[in-house]
Amino acid sequence: MTTTLTAALSPYRFFEATVARTRQVGPSTRRVTFVGADLEHFASLGLDQSLSVFLPRPGQSDPVLPREHGDGWWAAFRAIDEDERAVMRSYTLREFRRAPGRPEEIDIDFVLHGDLGPASRWAAQAAPGHRVVVLGPRVADNGAVRFRLPAHADSVVIWADETALPAAESVLAALPPGIAADVWIDVPRIGDRRPLYTAADARIAWLVGEEAPEARRGERALAALRAAPRRGTRPYAWLSGESGAVTSLRRLLVRERNVPKCDVTFVGYWRHGTTEEELRARRAAEARTA
Ligand SMILES: Cc1cc2nc3c(=O)[nH]c(=O)nc-3n(C[C@H](O)[C@H](O)[C@H](O)COP(=O)(O)OP(=O)(O)OC[C@H]3O[C@@H](n4cnc5c(N)ncnc54)[C@H](O)[C@@H]3O)c2cc1C
Repeated sequence: MTTTLTAALSPYRFFEATVARTRQVGPSTRRVTFVGADLEHFASLGLDQSLSVFLPRPGQSDPVLPREHGDGWWAAFRAIDEDERAVMRSYTLREFRRAPGRPEEIDIDFVLHGDLGPASRWAAQAAPGHRVVVLGPRVADNGAVRFRLPAHADSVVIWADETALPAAESVLAALPPGIAADVWIDVPRIGDRRPLYTAADARIAWLVGEEAPEARRGERALAALRAAPRRGTRPYAWLSGESGAVTSLRRLLVRERNVPKCDVTFVGYWRHGTTEEELRARRAAEARTA
């Protein structure tokens, strides 16, 4: 008997992507639209699909990345000198467009949080022709889609800050008609608010940072959730954004509202005073000791 071993197809692959255009979509956010011949292989369910974006370092025109290593790229990437290898950052697919006779496009909304981080800096200066590499889905249903509405859920609770607003927009657009959804979106500036579309029976509240100091974001979110009347008996919660705020909100839902842990999806998108490399290293260390 002959046995054929077929390597499991990774749901992700590298996509070469070039900036086609950019547009400010609020005082805090710049939308960058990318095109690329590879994008014909891109597949997406939408929702909170996250991507890894590889950016060139200052002075480079292309991100340095061991593309030829296939699924073994991570070890080869780590072996490249830190000052030379691409900057790797997590972002959300805001939209993927495929239309007959037109090149495929993807949009990513970058929060401009100042000159502090290489990704924010890159996005502030992004212009047509600039090149990046995106590690993204070639299989639509993949592990980088975290929003998973359980069949038993009769309502949804959503909290997102400005970094998770692109994901929240896609999640809201995909909610089933009529389901109760309580939504809090926390943004820095009044001008960051924008229309959100959903078929759900949604109550959407904007919490605005410039109306209160940044340090109070977590408290603001907790107070808003505590004060809200409950809807439904089996809520599913999706909480994404600044790590400290997400952790406190999860604790509130699990300990005070008795929402089962398995019905709360929570993702720390960033943490005050910590770069993404540091966050990744911390999580890897935690996983090793768990
Ligand atoms: C799954 C996932 C999806 C994400 N999707 C998006 C998205 O669609 N859009 C988006 O803008 N971000 C998104 N993020 C967050 C983004 O990856 C981080 O904000 C990242 O740290 C930005 O990289 P940087 O190089 O600009 O800053 P870093 O070099 O990582 O950090 C430098 C400093 O800036 C601070 N910092 C980082 N982000 C912010 C911020 N937003 N506001 C204030 N200070 C900050 C850090 O605390 C650190 O002190 C996502 C994160 C994850 C995990």
